[in-house]
Amino acid sequence: MIYLNGNFMPIEEARIPVLDRGFIFGDGVYEVIPVYSRKPFRLIEHLQRLQHSLDGIRLQNPHSDDEWRSLLEQVVAENENDDQSLYLHVTRGVAKRDHAFPKGVAPTVFIMSNPLLTPPRELLATGAAAITANDNRWLRCDIKAISLLPNVLLRQMAIDAGAMETVLLREGFMTEGAASNIFVVRNDILLAPPKNHLMLPGITYDVVLELADAYQIPYEVREISEYEVRTAQEILLTSSTKEIMPITRLDGKPVGDGKPGAMFEQLYRLYQDYKLTVMRG
Ligand code: PMP
Repeated sequence: MIYLNGNFMPIEEARIPVLDRGFIFGDGVYEVIPVYSRKPFRLIEHLQRLQHSLDGIRLQNPHSDDEWRSLLEQVVAENENDDQSLYLHVTRGVAKRDHAFPKGVAPTVFIMSNPLLTPPRELLATGAAAITANDNRWLRCDIKAISLLPNVLLRQMAIDAGAMETVLLREGFMTEGAASNIFVVRNDILLAPPKNHLMLPGITYDVVLELADAYQIPYEVREISEYEVRTAQEILLTSSTKEIMPITRLDGKPVGDGKPGAMFEQLYRLYQDYKLTVMRG
C-alpha cells in the first residue's frame, strides 16, 4: 500500500494528473528513509532535511513532524517486510503549466515503501567499482530535489562502464557520488568533504562522523582534491540504502591494495552495532 494525498491504496491504483508540477517541472523534493525491524532510522534527521529542502524550494511543509511520523508508520505497517526503504515525495501540486508558483494549490504528497536491499556480504568482501566524472549539477545540491536528471545520467555512466557509482569532481575537488556521499582515507585518517551547497548533507554521512567521534577514529572535514581521491588508501561510499561500502576500483585502477581496508571494516562494524542499539532502544 502507498499513501497519496490523504488516501492509502495499492500502487497500481495511484494516479497523478499530468499537470502535476513534479511531472512538468520536477518541482518537488523527496526523502529516502531506511526502516530496520519496522522502525524508521534517524527519522528526526530525515524530517529536518525534508524541511531544509522544502525551505530551499519555498514550499510550505504540508505536515507537522507528528503527522509525518504517523503517515510513515501507517505505510510501514501496511507493508510486509521488516526492513524497508521509505520514499517520501512532495511536489508543488497540480496547476496550469506556468513556471511561476501557482496560488492556492495543495501540494502532492506521496509515500511508498520498498524492501530494503542493503549490499550483500559478497559485494562488501570485494568492494565496488566506481568511475569519476565532472560534477555538472546545479549549485544547490544540498536540496534533495526530485529533478535528478544529472544524477541519472551520471549514474548511468558508471553502469555503462561496468561500475556501481560515479564519484563527482568539481574544479579539482571531490563533492560526492551520483546518489551517495564519499569519504577518502589517507594515512589512516578519514577525510570527509565539508557540508555545503555542493553536496547533499547525508544522514549516513553524519552517522559515520558521529561514530568516528565516539570511537576516536582520526578524521578531518575538509576539501578533498582529485589527486587525494586518485591516490587514496581507501574510498568509502555511504547512503541510507547502501549503508557503508568500500570502493576498491576507481576508473579501472585499484584503490590502495584493491581490497576493502581497515577503516571500512571498523566503520562497517560500528554502523551495524549502532543500528542494533537504535532498534533495541
Ligand atoms: N548524495 C546524494 C546525491 C544522494 O542521492 C544520497 C542518497 N540519498 C546521498 C548523498 C546520501 O544521503 P543519505 O545518507 O541521507 O542517504
